[in-house]
Amino acid sequence: MRRRDHDVVVIGAGTAGMVAGARLAEAGADVCVIAKGVGSTHLAPGTIDVLGYAPGRVESPADALTSLAADHPYALIGSAAVADAVDWFTATATAAAGAFPGYAYVGSLERNLLLPTAVGALKPSALVPETFVAGDARQLDGLTVVGTPLLRDFHASLCADNLRAAGLRTTTVSLEVELDRVDANALGFARRFDDPRWRAAFSARLAPLLTGAGPVGLPAVLGLRDPHAVLTDLQAQLGRRVFEIPTLPPSVPGMRLFEILHHALRRAGGRLVIGAGVVSHRREGDRVAEVQTATAGSNTTYAADAFVLASGGFHSGAITLDSHWQAHEQVLGLTLTGVPDAGAPRFVPSYFAEQPLSRAGVAVGPDLRATGVSNVVVAGASLPGSASWREASGEGIALASGYRAAEVTATALGAGAIA
Ligand SMILES: Cc1cc2nc3c(=O)[nH]c(=O)nc-3n(C[C@H](O)[C@H](O)[C@H](O)COP(=O)(O)OP(=O)(O)OC[C@H]3O[C@@H](n4cnc5c(N)ncnc54)[C@H](O)[C@@H]3O)c2cc1C
Repeated sequence: MRRRDHDVVVIGAGTAGMVAGARLAEAGADVCVIAKGVGSTHLAPGTIDVLGYAPGRVESPADALTSLAADHPYALIGSAAVADAVDWFTATATAAAGAFPGYAYVGSLERNLLLPTAVGALKPSALVPETFVAGDARQLDGLTVVGTPLLRDFHASLCADNLRAAGLRTTTVSLEVELDRVDANALGFARRFDDPRWRAAFSARLAPLLTGAGPVGLPAVLGLRDPHAVLTDLQAQLGRRVFEIPTLPPSVPGMRLFEILHHALRRAGGRLVIGAGVVSHRREGDRVAEVQTATAGSNTTYAADAFVLASGGFHSGAITLDSHWQAHEQVLGLTLTGVPDAGAPRFVPSYFAEQPLSRAGVAVGPDLRATGVSNVVVAGASLPGSASWREASGEGIALASGYRAAEVTATALGAGAIA
């Protein structure tokens, strides 16, 4: 069994864990992020939805955040830390020395943008990649949605029909594109768009077919190496504004989001180990002293002064329901809260209704510290108290709580004020 010692071990490499890891590394801590696999970044659209519904559609997250229940994650994090997290993320994503020079996240807590989803619904988001901005329905008169039959994870006509039903003048273009069938997914297309010659040929074929008004919406596959250059080129070649519309997973903008955070972590000296699922842990008194991971080759023990638990919730397998309908926190055996009482319904039949289990999570105190242990701070979807799927708040909670978890942990370690 190998052994590694760190100041802090962050468990989970979704948005929450990567933000916590990057911030702790920036604070000078020796930090290692370990994860069973990548998180929801590679599946979700890559936008930072802070608060979309509460319960009606939210215009200004900054205003709506103040009216949430006292046990909501945002209430525990505090409005100031949410605002600081948003500022930090915007600067990190946009940094000239960042993962994608020129590529920026746009938006603010003051006013949500309203963007088309893969099925043509309009979703409120606070911070979005620059490649999404021209799709903001609040500014749109007309638009053209472009798809290709080869990319089965995006249906232009479905998206356009629903946008039309929502009152937007929408035209559809279906473009035949040549690509090896094995590459005919979002990732394969993104790699093609990274090639300037390929995207120039694409534009040359698309331009004569554009008859409708307004910007052009393409599936979110505009490059994984230099998305800013892809956007700039396409807009110049087509003579119109261009925007990305999310596809079914995998998510190319989500992969960029992961890479932005990975770059920030690495640049600050932090480490990431993927493929390291925590299978057991050891406590000393009220502290978690170490965790053991099962990895290919050999198992590893990670010892640390402090841990950030950012392992997600039911969706990532970090919280489970057993055959007796009892819920368990799988990683560190922590206490859960928000689980319906024995005998009470766990689920309701309507799929889109708020499910009784949806607010369950790891019990925490005011500083996001896990109840019952002294050196574990919790972040992201592991936290209780939100119905993030209904609120459109998952990525915002992950960002803000990862940021706050780093602050709390750095202070406890005496790592000083975070720069
Ligand atoms: C398809 C999809 C679409 C979504 N769309 C939206 C949206 O439009 N807007 C929005 O706001 N939110 C959306 N979400 C939700 C949002 O992405 C999540 O709420 C948010 O990413 C949670 O981040 P997290 O870091 O807390 O957890 P996750 O991203 O789930 O990361 C959890 C991490 O913990 C790791 N882990 C779990 N168990 C262990 C273990 N035992 N040992 C080690 N590591 C472990 C996982 O491997 C992973 O790295 C979507 C999610 C999905 C899946």
